Amino acid sequence: MTFKGFSSFWAALGLLLCSLIASGGWLRAAEIRDLRVVAAEASTQLVVELSGPTEHKLFTLSNPARVVLDLSASSLPARIAMPAAAGVVAGVRAGKQPKSTVRLVLDTAQPVVPRIVQAGPTGPFPYRLIVELGTGAGPVGAAVAPAAAVALPTAPREITARHAPADSGRDIVIAVDAGHGGVDPGALGPNKTREKDVVLHIAKALVERINAQPGMRGVLTRDGDYFLELRERMQRARRAKADLFVSIHADSIGNPTVSGSSVYVLSERGASSEAARWLAERENAADLKGGVSLDGRDKVLANVLLDLSQSASISQSMAAAEQVLKSLVDVGEVRKPKVQQAGFVVLKSPDIPSMLVETAYISNQADERKLRQPAHRARIANAIFDGIQDYFSDNAPDGTRLAMARRATVAAVDKPARAR
Ligand SMILES: [Zn+2]
Repeated sequence: MTFKGFSSFWAALGLLLCSLIASGGWLRAAEIRDLRVVAAEASTQLVVELSGPTEHKLFTLSNPARVVLDLSASSLPARIAMPAAAGVVAGVRAGKQPKSTVRLVLDTAQPVVPRIVQAGPTGPFPYRLIVELGTGAGPVGAAVAPAAAVALPTAPREITARHAPADSGRDIVIAVDAGHGGVDPGALGPNKTREKDVVLHIAKALVERINAQPGMRGVLTRDGDYFLELRERMQRARRAKADLFVSIHADSIGNPTVSGSSVYVLSERGASSEAARWLAERENAADLKGGVSLDGRDKVLANVLLDLSQSASISQSMAAAEQVLKSLVDVGEVRKPKVQQAGFVVLKSPDIPSMLVETAYISNQADERKLRQPAHRARIANAIFDGIQDYFSDNAPDGTRLAMARRATVAAVDKPARAR
């Protein structure tokens, strides 16, 4: 092909593409691929799988209580069945609106506070819209009741920590994150044990153990079998004002002889890429813990502050993770004798010390069997708890009941020394 022929070929292709885009033939309408309602104790979600992104509008109506989701330029094939009632959802209906808008109406058993999250596509998971329906407990729900049509309220309330009164010091809050869930089963064992199930059991056991400890409070990022985006997990920990974030997983590898647990914290490289993201999304960065505010700072200073916060966080994460790893040695085999560092997204909160515990290799038959035993899961949960407690006994955050109790003990020990 001559140069002239080559360039006119590209010019013709360009023209073709332009006309396709202009006519709308290029931008296909999004097709709904699946609709389902996932209900758990404290949360009901509508999951809409789509062939691609689409504009959407979410609002509520009252008398009777309904949630309406409008998807513009979309289609709903006849083969897609309406999901059955579950959780607060009493029924789902679909209808057509002008301009190829598909309207989904959720009849709810009570007024709810809906939130919408866009997800994917990631790995095997397609593009999704996830509507989370919080039931109206507390001030957020109360705000919704009187209005006829309220759009997109703020946060769900289920993991808000209740702190002790200020004079006795607040509780240390630990966010426990069961990996995977819902459409994402995580790893599968040779006997089909699903990671998402066993890690939820361990996470619940860990929260129970934490809550049995005065001065500590555990909160779950998910309390049932539903999907949560990684960043939503971090957001939930942040909303609960967590002092520590612990994500629970079970590892998988091709070699079936590999077994044991490992503990991870964020790597420096993962941290620096996250700093860039936080600076790009200033609204995230406005409320860092420890009084650091990036608001109104110039870019260079904001970067330095964020860096400091993140490095402090990583070293605290490391100290906590080392205690947990030490304690896991007591329950069984530890895969690697040192805390590992990796760029896991879920560990990227710049101001909340975070760790990820791979409790075992679910791909190993013996480990899989142990993960199925409630007694073993309790041993793992207790070991993680012991490590967390060891860490906080030396590193109780200011203002917590534990920090005050320690100060009182130190004062009591000091007094006789001064009297001498
Ligand atoms: Zn996992």
